[in-house]
Amino acid sequence: MTNEKKLIGVKNEAVEKACKDFQFYLERYDLVANVTALQTRRNKVSLGGKDDNCRFCDVSKTDGDFKKEAHALPQLVGNFSLFSCYECDNCNGRFGKFEEDLSSFLHLKRIVGGIKGKTGIPSYKTFQKLSRIDSSLSNGMHIKEYKDDRIIGLNEETKTLTLKVTSHPYRPLGVYKALLKSAVTILPPEFLIDLPQAVEWLKYDDLDTGKIDDGTGYTCIESFTAGPRPINNVRALIFKRKEGIFDCPNMVFILAFGNHSYQIFMPCPEKDKELVGKNIILSPIPVFQFLSEERTKGSTTYNRLCLSSDKKESLPLIATMSYESSQELSEQENTIVK
Ligand SMILES: [Zn+2]
Repeated sequence: MTNEKKLIGVKNEAVEKACKDFQFYLERYDLVANVTALQTRRNKVSLGGKDDNCRFCDVSKTDGDFKKEAHALPQLVGNFSLFSCYECDNCNGRFGKFEEDLSSFLHLKRIVGGIKGKTGIPSYKTFQKLSRIDSSLSNGMHIKEYKDDRIIGLNEETKTLTLKVTSHPYRPLGVYKALLKSAVTILPPEFLIDLPQAVEWLKYDDLDTGKIDDGTGYTCIESFTAGPRPINNVRALIFKRKEGIFDCPNMVFILAFGNHSYQIFMPCPEKDKELVGKNIILSPIPVFQFLSEERTKGSTTYNRLCLSSDKKESLPLIATMSYESSQELSEQENTIVK
């Protein structure tokens, strides 16, 4: 591969690295799940069939309730079209707790990225309940800032606006469990045999009971690409290690939407026991494959997060956006940024 190749969202000097990462997955893994979900209920798809037991607790259709619509990927990342037939109401209710963690974790990202959930794009209020951020697809973002409750940094020179807020509290390990639940849901049934402990852990509504080590300290690789929803639909993939390869984790899941993607390593202790005590490379799955050329306004950056903590945390959230012009409105004491 040469540097002449142009990849969306990849700087020229980073093309080689992105190709190498892509090659890493091509050589070592098979793509075993590949789903797309839309921000609309048109073309609704349900995974599984009417006779399937609950994938998580094994209750049958006759013994359990399956009345609720079970989203295969969280609705809060913009999934309005992809459901599953194999999640009972009881398990669905339990997963709500982990989705709350995910919701607080993604809060600002969903506002800035214009990602709709059940009740539309979320709003943000500071703890002082003065300054706030609202967003809509038709009117863009509306930020109200009070002198005693600053959340905006405006840099006229670089024409950038930086939002600095604090997240609502969430448990990082709860975020991991929410991502793992999505991964287990879209996995074709023949591969479930690789992760019985992960399915067991998902049976409990706390984080400790049945907790299973993923071998990477619950590493999550996050990517960010600037632009108006450069990943227009919700995408999720699972890669499974090929036979005869022993230098990388058995299963890798990535969820991509809006400006972001989140990649985790699915806990398969039996399959990954060869890796214990070894130094292994955790390569990011390149996201250029998901990006729309016309919506991508910068190069993709990757960030490694550790989702191991089971304590509620409020973390600083920072989002920087560029703008074309700003205008001061003296009467209303507002500044309009376009
Ligand atoms: Zn169930």
